[in-house]
Amino acid sequence: MNIEHLGVHDSISAVFPPERLVDALASVDPNVSIVRDGEYDDIDAVVTFAHDDAYFGQVEWVHCARAGYDDFPVERFEETGTILTNSSGIHGASVGETAVGMMLSLARCLHVARDAQNRGEWSRPEWDRPFTLFDQRVTVVGLGTLGQGIARRADGLGMRVSGVRRTPARPPHVREVYTPVDLHDAIADAKFVALTTPLTEETAHMFGAEEFDVMRDDAYLVNVARGGVVDQDALVDALESGDIAGAGLDVFEEEPLPESSPLWEMDDVVVTPHVGAADRNYYQDIAALVRQNVLHASADEEFVNRVA
Ligand code: NAD
Repeated sequence: MNIEHLGVHDSISAVFPPERLVDALASVDPNVSIVRDGEYDDIDAVVTFAHDDAYFGQVEWVHCARAGYDDFPVERFEETGTILTNSSGIHGASVGETAVGMMLSLARCLHVARDAQNRGEWSRPEWDRPFTLFDQRVTVVGLGTLGQGIARRADGLGMRVSGVRRTPARPPHVREVYTPVDLHDAIADAKFVALTTPLTEETAHMFGAEEFDVMRDDAYLVNVARGGVVDQDALVDALESGDIAGAGLDVFEEEPLPESSPLWEMDDVVVTPHVGAADRNYYQDIAALVRQNVLHASADEEFVNRVA
């Protein structure tokens, strides 16, 4: 495939200024310019945050600057022969630190202190509220880039890490691996359950009332995957009824999280606005992936991270 003109879709501005990526890609052969919805004349490939139906019939290759491509109509890409690649593989450190940061905040009550600071109050949490992550069990559901990123960091803090994956092979930093049919066994005795699977037909609402019932009453859910992996109404019910103790949530069924959501007001819920992977060097990681695939395309080699 000959890529002569590469477009950086302006939807990328959700994560960094598009000009940064244009500059970072300047060393790649093709001309690079910023493009907007529907403006793909002479554009061979697009790097983007958002899907646009007008890609079809216009560009040969679309690179999604996110790991999750559930917003992209994969079947249509397959039917039209348009190549779709994603950005899996680069978020282990950023999301790993976000998830472990949430666990640290919930354990050490940093969120409680910050709330008090916002009120200008010097107040200590109840004596029996703080705990340590050391020796606590965390179950990571999905052991890909994000899951292994969390496992490595949680292990470093002395946590006991279990995982759920479709194949039983045990990656580093994980003591026990369960397959999805044994999900309930995997989460029953965990202090933290961290979700890191893609959103698929199989994982949609994988966590609902039953799973919250199985989890310990003093357990916390950490969701850095996609909001749709969790039945959010059931989560709110579980938090309100004390079925689980709290949550760290970066992703939601509806984003932005509506003002009316009870999750905003809950003491032991940390809400972050889908910034788990935010990193000032993100554009460099995306540039490296795109550069690699431009080289593969010109050599007629298989694309890296090809999903359609
Ligand atoms: P990845 O492809 O490296 O890993 C996903 C893993 O989940 C794979 O190992 C896969 O086998 C496993 N999996 C799929 N279905 C499963 C199931 N039913 N049970 C157990 N495991 C299952 O992807 P990744 O980079 O780790 O990202 C995972 C997802 O996290 C993305 O698809 C995206 O939706 C989300 N994500 C969120 C952020 C954020 O900002 N919060 C950032 C990056 C990725």
